[in-house]
Amino acid sequence: MYLEKLELQGFKSFAQKTVMEFPKLRGSNPDIAAIVGPNGSGKSNVADSVRWVLGEQSLKLLRGKRAEDVIFSGSGTKARLGFAEVSLFLNNNDKKANIDYDQVVVKRRVYRNGESEYHINNSKVRLADIQLLLAQANFGQRTYSVIGQGMTDAILSSTPYERKNFFDEATGVKQYQIKREHAKSKIKTTEENLAQVKSLIREIKPRLKNLEQQIEKREKRKHLEKELHHLQLKHYGSLWHSTNTKLDDLRDKKKTIEKSHLSLNKKLSELQNKLQKLEQEQKQADIGDYDKVQSGYQQALTKKNELTGALAGFTRELEVLERLEKAHPTNIDTEKLVESSHKQIDLLETVIKTTTLDALKDLQSKAKKLKNEITDILKDKDSAPRETTTEKIHELTKKIRSIKQELEIAAQEVDKKQNLVTDLRKVESKATSIVFDTQKQYQKLQLELNDVSSKKHHIDVELAKIETRKHDLSQEIEREVRGNLKERIKNTHNNDNQSHDHWPRIANVKSELEMIGGFEPETDEDYSETKKRHDFLAEQLHDLEDALKKTNQALHQLDAVIEKQFNKSFEKIEKGFTEYFKILFSGGTASLTLNRQTELEMLNEDIAAGLTKKEQEQLANTIKMGIEIKASPPGKKVTTINMLSGGERALTSIALICAIIRANPSPFVVLDEVDAALDEANSERFAAILEKLSHQTQFIAITHNRATMEQANILYGVTMGEDGVSKLLSIDLEKAVENIA
Ligand code: ATP
Repeated sequence: MYLEKLELQGFKSFAQKTVMEFPKLRGSNPDIAAIVGPNGSGKSNVADSVRWVLGEQSLKLLRGKRAEDVIFSGSGTKARLGFAEVSLFLNNNDKKANIDYDQVVVKRRVYRNGESEYHINNSKVRLADIQLLLAQANFGQRTYSVIGQGMTDAILSSTPYERKNFFDEATGVKQYQIKREHAKSKIKTTEENLAQVKSLIREIKPRLKNLEQQIEKREKRKHLEKELHHLQLKHYGSLWHSTNTKLDDLRDKKKTIEKSHLSLNKKLSELQNKLQKLEQEQKQADIGDYDKVQSGYQQALTKKNELTGALAGFTRELEVLERLEKAHPTNIDTEKLVESSHKQIDLLETVIKTTTLDALKDLQSKAKKLKNEITDILKDKDSAPRETTTEKIHELTKKIRSIKQELEIAAQEVDKKQNLVTDLRKVESKATSIVFDTQKQYQKLQLELNDVSSKKHHIDVELAKIETRKHDLSQEIEREVRGNLKERIKNTHNNDNQSHDHWPRIANVKSELEMIGGFEPETDEDYSETKKRHDFLAEQLHDLEDALKKTNQALHQLDAVIEKQFNKSFEKIEKGFTEYFKILFSGGTASLTLNRQTELEMLNEDIAAGLTKKEQEQLANTIKMGIEIKASPPGKKVTTINMLSGGERALTSIALICAIIRANPSPFVVLDEVDAALDEANSERFAAILEKLSHQTQFIAITHNRATMEQANILYGVTMGEDGVSKLLSIDLEKAVENIA
């Protein structure tokens, strides 16, 4: 890589567009270009332009006070300009710059309002992009890529730790340090983000935990509710079903019993009718035929008895008369006797009819009276004449014969009537038996009806009980059971094993549900949002931790690379410094030493004692490196560089710069009058060193020094006219050297 072209427009004294080309004239070897011109013509402005385009921010180094000081500020004849622009055209055939172009054009432009732009190959980029690209190609804008007037001495006069900065660039670790800075800043940002995410997670976690507990409770509640529904379905379903089954059974029984009740009632009523009819019939039979037949029979019997009585009376009378006639004819008053006989017959008839004891007693007294009467008659037995007795016997015999005939007829009549009565009695007895049977049947039915009625009543009572129970159960279900479960319960058709009592578990589940309490409906949404946010943050946390880990790893790797590279280059620089010092001073000794010290070691003891333990630990872990320079020209016992003369300091710093350039060659180096303080001999030595170094690095040397000019193969002259504008002149190299000589 080398500088092909430099374009300036509006930059400081270069008001017009000025192009400096650096063609490769020495084949594969880089060239040395010399820029010459009178004091104040604008030569150093060229060095400034390179420094500026490479990203220099220090106004001091750019020799200005404000950013706009780099813009052409005008002169007596030329107006000031609105912007300054510098373009650096780098040949990138060797692809030292990590960009896929053969030419890299780095451009910087600034406007009077301070607005600044950077471009790489016409694409707007950030300063950091330019810095990284250049660092990769071993450029450094502040240090040795542009080595300005007085800057060489600044290396010597800076502190060991400031010097270390310069060496970082010189050893080529700057690119890694830029990356390291990026990594550190990334770590810082990541740590800040991490802290923020952690704080957000810390904030959100209790809420999430609370919501999770609520969701857990909700799940438990759901589970318990499901169990409760299941248990209620079994418990109430079984109760409902068994109650309905009982009701159906009872209703069926009621129907059957009502049917039999009705049928019994009907039968009873039929029997009652039948009974009434029979009784009626019996009554009618009693009043009618039987009485008639009975009275006929009684009449016939009375007649027969009368005739029998009369016959007995006449027969006795006849016997008496016959005895009288045979033995002792007497004067017994027969009429009186007959009359008494008749009374005797009447009495006998009455005796026959008499049934009561009182009547018999009455009849006994009547019989005694009649006996006395007959006895009196019989005392007068001889008083009646004989002839009357025979007549009377004859009459009586006749009468008896007639009575006997009548009696025969009367007896027949009695038998006849008696048969009739017997028949009637038989009929009556049969009817009575039917009535009796019917009555028995009626009683039996009545008993049956009573039994059925009692059963019916019992069923009605039982039905009322079960219906009340069903009503109570329905109300309990309404009260205890939610949603369509009621329908399911009432549609239960299977009878659960009722031996298992679900009620204790139902009570337990209900009490557990009460303890769990209610659930806010917005919890779900709240939980899902909080969880989403938490998961998002957790993922971020994971990503950030991962990124932090990776960046820390990268940082450690970079540290290792930096250390390795630094040590390697530092060794080379140290060696080169000793060598160039000896060449430039024709002897003497010089060395570079790398000091490693912790920040704690660097602190004043009193200040360190006032720090906290943590702060002390932190400082003890931060290592600061510094570089000590020792230079002792030949024959002098100089221990510190502060004791060197101006010229010696210039030679020492040139020795150091040359050592750096050799150890870690930059594609090009602009040297702004670094050789100004050298005497003739040293100028020669410096020119010789430059020539050697130019085999690996392109030099653009702003110089008044002949020896340096002699080494150059490209020469630009800078002049400034009265218009205050720098102009570029192509100079005939040979003539210029002759003129200077
Ligand atoms: P020397 O050889 O003495 O070091 P030089 O050739 O390096 O001189 P410079 O320092 O490059 O000279 O140029 C200084 C000149 O540039 C001054 O005359 C100054 O007026 C001019 N200059 C600096 N800044 C501006 C600016 N913004 N606008 C116009 N002219 C400027």
